[in-house]
Amino acid sequence: MADPRIETIRRCARCHQHGVTCVDATRFLLQGIIPSGTTYQHACGACGYRFKTESPWRTVVSLLMAAIPFALFVLMVVVAIPYVVDPDLPHQRAGQNTIWIFAGIAALFLLLSLGVMGSSAWRTIQLYRNPAVGRASDQGSPK
Ligand SMILES: [Zn+2]
Repeated sequence: MADPRIETIRRCARCHQHGVTCVDATRFLLQGIIPSGTTYQHACGACGYRFKTESPWRTVVSLLMAAIPFALFVLMVVVAIPYVVDPDLPHQRAGQNTIWIFAGIAALFLLLSLGVMGSSAWRTIQLYRNPAVGRASDQGSPK
């Protein structure tokens, strides 16, 4: 039940004080039933630096989510290849505008997918930029 990351004290990447605590944790449920990980909001008590991290399971779920728009992007590229490669196709001239809308939607899917992956990657990097230095519960209870 107890989540060790909520208890963890971290060193601040900005001011290097051992003052970063977890101020908020959000558990996500897919379709209201399937646990899809937790995101954590951290804040430095010394300088106010705030950042988010996520649980490993959240990263897995995020990457699965990112795979959907990425697969759509790949699919759209594969569908578009004959139109780009063969300039003699009769659709070519008529489809000049369509191809730009098509390319726009494909680019949107790619950006969406990269955005989700980038966000997960950054939240994982933040765990190492702000390394754990102790546990809040350790104070006063020597083990
Ligand atoms: Zn700080």
